[in-house]
Amino acid sequence: MDFLMVGAGLSCAVMGRKLAEAGHRVTVIDSRDHVAGNCHTERDADTGVLVHVYGPHIFHTDDEEVWDYVNHYTTFLPYKNRVKSTTQGQVFSLPVNLHTINQFFGKTMRPDEARAFIEDQADTSIDDPQTFEEQALRFVGPDLYEAFFKGYTEKQWGCSPTELPASILKRLPVRFNYDDNYFFHRFQGMPEDGYTPMVEAILDHRNITVSLSTPYEPSMRADHDHVVWSGPLDGYFDYDLGRLGYRTLDFERFTATGDWQGCAVMNYGDRDVPFTRITEHKHFAPWEEHEGSVLYREYSRACEPGDIPYYPIRMVEEKALLADYIQKAERETGVTFVGRLGTYRYLDMDVTIREALDIADGFLAALGGDGRLPIFAKSPL
Ligand SMILES: Cc1cc2nc3c(=O)[nH]c(=O)nc-3n(C[C@H](O)[C@H](O)[C@H](O)COP(=O)(O)OP(=O)(O)OC[C@H]3O[C@@H](n4cnc5c(N)ncnc54)[C@H](O)[C@@H]3O)c2cc1C
Repeated sequence: MDFLMVGAGLSCAVMGRKLAEAGHRVTVIDSRDHVAGNCHTERDADTGVLVHVYGPHIFHTDDEEVWDYVNHYTTFLPYKNRVKSTTQGQVFSLPVNLHTINQFFGKTMRPDEARAFIEDQADTSIDDPQTFEEQALRFVGPDLYEAFFKGYTEKQWGCSPTELPASILKRLPVRFNYDDNYFFHRFQGMPEDGYTPMVEAILDHRNITVSLSTPYEPSMRADHDHVVWSGPLDGYFDYDLGRLGYRTLDFERFTATGDWQGCAVMNYGDRDVPFTRITEHKHFAPWEEHEGSVLYREYSRACEPGDIPYYPIRMVEEKALLADYIQKAERETGVTFVGRLGTYRYLDMDVTIREALDIADGFLAALGGDGRLPIFAKSPL
């Protein structure tokens, strides 16, 4: 078959590779002038620093097959994400751990003492937490909530934590040891030369043609048997039912000499600091040496037409509109919606790759059977 794949991010690159290896013809287009979608990295011309252009991306997974897959296309070097937070005039360690708790309350507690202390702080009068705020108060009490969750969440989501569902904070967001590794996953690392060469290597196959700076036009369909769409679901329909809500990010870039903040990611928890975090990109590649430094101050706001959609909001209203778009999509033929935008979900890179591998396997099985390819291989709801 001849596939048109819209988007040169991980979803279409990984799917396209598998289909190409099975002998199908694959054309990948992207409106941007580079591959790799949102995990695109590029070297800053002045400093030589590898910049995560659409925000920091750290690879972490428990999926051994996915880990082997990415290591097949590039070299990953060990990297642990250790985030700090500037809050109420001090710098703390995140996620909230024993160091954070002891520093914040001016104590020297051991794990069991800290656990009992936090249980004392927790608001046990909240039986059945419904909102993010109630859940946080139930877990950690008012002081840690104010310092580390309230202001940051308000800035990130543009609304009060009383309007967000409790489900956002599923587990106790506190560790009673000194482990400050942000992620729990077994495999963690950074591609030595960035994500873009990795995606270029995935797309490097004789059955794959890549066209950059090429936005999708409906007339392109005529030249292909099937479209795989990793752009925004509502964008496919020209937003005719309305726009699915996203948060977008503004990155205020600045440069410095030497080491500006001493770590890759510094969160800012206070509500009166307008940005959520500052990223110093050179710390994502600690094996490199650069005199200059490139930093991003990150601001979150509602996504307007023309902005890059980053985080799907997925509150009750958006889910209702999503259901309408799913119904509309299911009346289509010859198209499959994939990836973070095509299914309006937040997906980490490893999950994106896992899904892309599975969907491609499903395609190959279907093509060997009744030939019917699904509209959605994963339900967006
Ligand atoms: C701020 C942020 C930080 C993240 N950090 C991490 C992290 O630390 N670790 C992690 O594992 N994951 C992280 N992720 C998730 C990661 O970015 C995604 O898993 C990954 O980008 C999904 O790949 P994709 O191909 O589905 O989508 P995308 O990467 O978004 O690719 C879609 C592509 O489609 C193109 N496109 C859209 N519409 C059209 C059109 N009409 N015509 C042509 N082309 C079109 C776009 O230009 C884009 O290049 C982060 C995401 C965000 C938003």
